[in-house]
Amino acid sequence: MAKYFKLRISCPVCHDNGLNTPQTGWSHNGCGGALNIGDNAHYQCQSCSYDSHVKNWKYGCPSHSGSSGEIVYKKSSPAGLAAAVSTAGQMVSETGVAWLQTFLGNMGDDW
Ligand SMILES: [Zn+2]
Ligand SMILES: [Zn+2]
Repeated sequence: MAKYFKLRISCPVCHDNGLNTPQTGWSHNGCGGALNIGDNAHYQCQSCSYDSHVKNWKYGCPSHSGSSGEIVYKKSSPAGLAAAVSTAGQMVSETGVAWLQTFLGNMGDDW
């Protein structure tokens, strides 16, 4: 049984670009529900229960928006997501280090 916590990380795409954005909650673009993150390396929507591995998601944030300011949804690299989750101090203080190690193992780096 996966253990889920409220997702609160900086933007993984911006990590790939060397930019450390504020750690925030993330919402599901499909329905606006808040997202949870599991040690099975899935995001799960609190509202519609959509659940999928982190490699399948894209991120939109104001710091990597388009030239006219529109939100652009982009995939992150595995390294960018690992960095964003590992440095999420408040979230990791809730999840604990053992959860983080399980997450990183299930996240994989072949995507
Ligand atoms: Zn970003
Ligand atoms: Zn949803």
